[in-house]
Amino acid sequence: MNWRTRLLDPAPRARRDFASLTTPVYRGSTVLFDDQTAVKDDWRQAQNGYSYGLYGTPTALELAHRIADLEGARETLIVPGGQAAIALIYLSYCTAGSHALVPYSAYGPNKAIAEGLMRGLNVEVEAYDPMIGASIADLIRDNTCLIWCESPGSVTMEIQDVPAIVEQAHAKDVAVALDNTYSAGVMFDAFAYGVDVSMQALTKYIGGHSDLLLGAVSARNAAALTKLGSIYQQLGLAVSPDDCSLALRGLQTLAVRLDALESATLEIANWLARHPHVGDVFHPALPSCPGHKIWKRDFTGSTSIFSFMFKDNISEDQVITFINSLKVFKIGMSWGGVNSLAIIYPDLQRPDKEFSGCIVRLNIGLEQPNDLIDDLSQAIEHSTQ
Ligand SMILES: *Cc1c(COP(=O)(O)O)cnc(C)c1O
Repeated sequence: MNWRTRLLDPAPRARRDFASLTTPVYRGSTVLFDDQTAVKDDWRQAQNGYSYGLYGTPTALELAHRIADLEGARETLIVPGGQAAIALIYLSYCTAGSHALVPYSAYGPNKAIAEGLMRGLNVEVEAYDPMIGASIADLIRDNTCLIWCESPGSVTMEIQDVPAIVEQAHAKDVAVALDNTYSAGVMFDAFAYGVDVSMQALTKYIGGHSDLLLGAVSARNAAALTKLGSIYQQLGLAVSPDDCSLALRGLQTLAVRLDALESATLEIANWLARHPHVGDVFHPALPSCPGHKIWKRDFTGSTSIFSFMFKDNISEDQVITFINSLKVFKIGMSWGGVNSLAIIYPDLQRPDKEFSGCIVRLNIGLEQPNDLIDDLSQAIEHSTQ
């Protein structure tokens, strides 16, 4: 055949028995079928074989299997980010005219979907007190289709009584979804506590180096998987095999990173709790964190993110000076990487508490803890003198 045709022949020339220690990056949209009768378009590739790259190449499915193993899920779907995971869950469980519940401590963009996209689709998403526990029963209506939990909550770090919420929800046949990003899917065993769908932003601890965006949606059982899978297919939530490859690499060092992050973060949180200019420290392992006792009961550890308040005599401007005086800590969003970050939430709204720009959230990285403490110390001194 002509060389032009030969250029396009997909048959491999190189040996295929390269047994790499790591998962190769498989690129591909089209999957070849042996004959016409074998042609299918099926998102259930783990059971039924590959049909299209949109539902994951072997690189993405390897990551999905490993997250499912780690979390004890029936199966996991890999999606482009944590926010895409949240959207997939809403769109799978809520239909027009239905009602959902979300804690008011939830990740901001989760509440933005509730108020934006879901409201536009005639789904009423009601915010609830994250510390409500079994009293969630009073908020469940005939048309309630989904209850979100996020524990600890974003920024204010409330630990929820997830098993109590699950018990009430299941008594009324309502599904419970958990944003389990804080726990990296390991510090809180979502499925052991009865959650139906667990999601995490792999962007955070699984990626672990602030260089990728991915999310995981893990289903408890076949019923949850079927609900999610068909919407996943309709939305076309494709992921890059390169990002999945980075996440697979991240998984290899997850345990050592989490160990180092937990101990450094505890050291810094305890140092802050003793500082004369610092008020409440919202770290799950400290008694000043709302729901600390539930954390002790339900979690196997803590991770790298927490918040603290300055005392009342420190002004909003002084807190800004504090942030701007930090040298080792960088100012930035997201977390779970190797660098320490600090940020103020000036517009943080909670119905029961006033923060007036004095709440600071820290993400602790892998720098030497003493250098981080020295940095915090000089910045507090500089802003309060
Ligand atoms: C970061 C984050 C997300 C969203 O993840 P992205 O990958 O950035 O979209 C969702 N939930 C929580 C709790 C997060 O912190």
